[in-house]
Amino acid sequence: MKEWETFNTRLKKENPLRFDKRAPNSFKTGNDETPGACPACDGGWSTLQFNWRLALAEPLGDWGRYTRTLLIKKILRRGSLYECPRCRQAWYLDAAQEMMTVVSPARIHSLDQWGSSPQLLPEPLWPKAKAIGATPAHRLSNDNRYAEIPCRIQTRQGKIIDRCLLIFSSQPPLAGDPEKLIGIGEVTELAPSDLTLPLSVRRACCLSSESKPGEAATLARTADKKYFRLNWSVNFFDEGGIPGKDLALAAKSAKDRSIRAPLINEDLDKITVVMVDWSSRVGELLGF
Ligand SMILES: [Zn+2]
Repeated sequence: MKEWETFNTRLKKENPLRFDKRAPNSFKTGNDETPGACPACDGGWSTLQFNWRLALAEPLGDWGRYTRTLLIKKILRRGSLYECPRCRQAWYLDAAQEMMTVVSPARIHSLDQWGSSPQLLPEPLWPKAKAIGATPAHRLSNDNRYAEIPCRIQTRQGKIIDRCLLIFSSQPPLAGDPEKLIGIGEVTELAPSDLTLPLSVRRACCLSSESKPGEAATLARTADKKYFRLNWSVNFFDEGGIPGKDLALAAKSAKDRSIRAPLINEDLDKITVVMVDWSSRVGELLGF
């Protein structure tokens, strides 16, 4: 599941249902043994994702119910949308036709938009993105076609968003809060955000090593020696009135237990995500 690493996996690790917190809990389809599930497809929300290729190879296996039931609805530029004809639950099959992922009604619009036209960073925004600087996926994720840039954006409606993460990836927008997902076509301006950590800190976070399960910290500090341990990849910071821009890498190691420093996890609920197509040009943003 390497292609599902990074942002998607970060979300799913915390809580599978955060993968989509608007999961419907009932299809009201009746008599199945699993409460709330569709008897034709077993419902979407007891299974978030499964291997379609293996399911096709074993039609009499546990997953045969899905391959017999789900029908292709629309071919996207990468992957395709499927639907259960009985309960109307939507599913996304990836471009490799390997993984099938459940899609909530709230997400179909953004997935359809993503799948209908290329999601490209407008030319005037490239130098601005480059000035902020991108970071790759965390080194333990094995995804070498991924980059992210934390920034402040302005939308077509004139809304300013201080915590926006541009994610360069070939993956569709399946993770995170669908209401916090906007298309690159909506973005008219891009600037550094005061809440963004400096590039040196963000880069160090991507190289952290796991000291115990779930913890891979990077030590950062303010000019007046307040210390924080940033867990995994962190882009935005706003603790006790200290904005991310005021932090710097600490000379000491995060494993140095003589330093009192709270562990900070990226607050994904507060971040607006903009998915942008991966291309070799993204290497420019990563400083390759
Ligand atoms: Zn169904």
